[in-house]
Amino acid sequence: MRRLLVAANWKMNGDMSSNAALLAAFKAGFNGSADTAIFPPAVYIPQLADSLKGSAIAYGVQNIHFEEKGAFTGETNLAMAQDFGCQYILVGHSERRELFGETNAIVAKKVVAVLAAGLIPMLCIGETLEQREAGVTEQICKEQIDAVLTQVGIKAFEKVVIAYEPVWAIGTGKTASPEQAQDVHSFIRQLLAAEDAAVAAKTRILYGGSVKASSAQALFGQPDIDGGLVGGASLMAEEFVAICNAA
Ligand code: PGA
Repeated sequence: MRRLLVAANWKMNGDMSSNAALLAAFKAGFNGSADTAIFPPAVYIPQLADSLKGSAIAYGVQNIHFEEKGAFTGETNLAMAQDFGCQYILVGHSERRELFGETNAIVAKKVVAVLAAGLIPMLCIGETLEQREAGVTEQICKEQIDAVLTQVGIKAFEKVVIAYEPVWAIGTGKTASPEQAQDVHSFIRQLLAAEDAAVAAKTRILYGGSVKASSAQALFGQPDIDGGLVGGASLMAEEFVAICNAA
């Protein structure tokens, strides 16, 4: 009942010509078995809006500011993202949290703003290696979800996509095993189900962290894994097409 979703997080990579080549390969290669979305650097959103016109591939920005407009140098607001047809907004990626000081409270404000604009937030959560080793993975994920849940309420989670991305698996080549990922995904779904079982059954929970074509099928085959958020491998046309088509 949950349609799988595979999203590409290009991070701070790409240029006009490499983007064009990737987009052409994606359009030609996807078999439509999953929903797909691409998060390019914000300045390339117009390029995607143009290239993906009429295609089923969605796109969005990697970060947004929650304020409506004004003196926020360097930021992008939701109206701007909407102007160019963005449907999804990545929120609270671990690199935003770690490198740019985004707290749970800031992340929650962003999710509130994205939902208010009628767009779909992709809320990233996940523990660091130290936290996993200290046995607090579930506690960290709960805190990250609760910070948002208390602001938007459980019903909103019909719209929210969660991306569980263990920080130790991001860009390291160390994918969580399907069982490790499933354990946390199941825990997250139970957290939501404790509030509203019907909503929990609908919420898409993606896995992210070194997803490759070779690991995609086993991950996406887990009962609570509803697709993936893919960084490095989404910059390789054949690899990313294979991941999407494995869904
Ligand atoms: P990765 O990145 O696939 O390169 O590990 C995933 C992400 O950061 O979203």
